[in-house]
Amino acid sequence: MDYRPLGKTGMQVSVIGFGASPLGNEFGEADFDECVRAVQLAIDSGITLFDVSPYYGRTLAEERLGRALQGRRDKVILATKCGRYGKTIEECDYSAARVTASIDESLQRLRTDYVDLFQVHDVEMVDDPDRIVNETIPALRKLQDAGKCRAVGITGLPLKILRYIASRVPVDTLLSFCRYNLMVDDMNRELTPFCIDQQIGLINASPLHMRMLTREGPPDWHPAPAEVKEAGRRVVELCRQANVDPADVSLRFCLDHPYVSSTLVGMSTSEHVKNNLRALRFKTPPALRQKIEQAVAPVKNVMWTQGRPENSDANWTRNS
Ligand code: NAD
Repeated sequence: MDYRPLGKTGMQVSVIGFGASPLGNEFGEADFDECVRAVQLAIDSGITLFDVSPYYGRTLAEERLGRALQGRRDKVILATKCGRYGKTIEECDYSAARVTASIDESLQRLRTDYVDLFQVHDVEMVDDPDRIVNETIPALRKLQDAGKCRAVGITGLPLKILRYIASRVPVDTLLSFCRYNLMVDDMNRELTPFCIDQQIGLINASPLHMRMLTREGPPDWHPAPAEVKEAGRRVVELCRQANVDPADVSLRFCLDHPYVSSTLVGMSTSEHVKNNLRALRFKTPPALRQKIEQAVAPVKNVMWTQGRPENSDANWTRNS
C-alpha cells in the first residue's frame, strides 16, 4: 500500500480508501459478518482511510462500521460527515446546533471519542452557501478545538460551490465524487489546481462511477442519463473482450492521479477488498485505454445534478 499526505493536516492516508456507504445497504443488502470481514481485511492490508456518514443507511453504516472497528480504532483514519440525513433537502440541516449535536451521535455509533475528519455532507443541499462559510465550518472548528475531530472538510457533487466555499473559509479537505474517473474528468478543471495551490487535501470518491464500471453494472437508482449508462456498458464489454476486470481498469485510472490523497471505493465484502487491492499492481493495456477513451468520448463529462438547482454548476453565478 502507498500513503500520501492529506493536504496540510499532518495525516497520511492510504491511496485506496474504504468507502463505507455499502455498509448501509446503499447498494443492496449487505451481510453484517461479511462487512466485518471486509473491514478487518482492509485494515490488515494497509488501508487506513475509512469514510462514512450518518446519511448512509440512515445511521446503519456508522453503526456497523463502529462495531467492525472495535479494538482497532487506533489503526485507522476515520472520516464521517454531518448536515445530510436523508434524500431530500428538507432532511438536511447545516445549522451550528445540528452539526454540533451530530458529531456526538456519530461518535456514539462509531464507538470512539473523536473522528479524524469531520465533513459537511453534500453542500449543494444548503439553502445558502454562505451559511456553510459563516455558520457550519466555524461550528466544526469549535468541535476541532474541543478535540472531537482533527480536521474539517466539505463534500459534494457540483464543483463550483465546493471551490466557492473553500475560497471563503479555510477547509482541510475537499471530497468530490463521480467527477474524476473513466467517464468524467472535470474535477481537474475546477478543483485540482485550486487544491494544489492551497495545499488542501483532495479526496476522490466513486472511482467505479457508483458501480457503473463493474461487471454487475449500475444500481437501479443510478442517476446518470441513459446514454452515459450505455457508454458504461460499452466500457465493461471492452474490458470483457480484453479479459480484464473493468473495476481494475477504473480504479487504476484514479490511482494514477498525481495529487489526489486517496481514492474512496465503496466496499462491503472481502472479495471487493481483495479485488481492489489488485488494482495497486494492475497495468491497463494501452490499446484498451485507447478504445475506452473512444467509447466514452461522446458522453465524456455528461453529468446529472443533485441538490438545489441554484447550487448546480450550470446555474452557478457567484464569483468563485
Ligand atoms: P463506487 O464507485 O466506489 O462503487 C461502489 C460500488 O461498487 C459498491 O456497490 C461496491 O459493492 C461495488 N464494488 C466495489 N469494488 C468492486 C470490485 N472490485 N468489483 C466489482 N464491484 C465492486 O461508489 P461509491 O460507493 O458511491 O463511492 C465510494 C465511497 O465514496 C462511498 O462509499 C463514500 O464513502 C464516498 N462518497 C462520498 C460522497 C459524499 O461525501 N458526498 C458521495 C459519494 C461517495
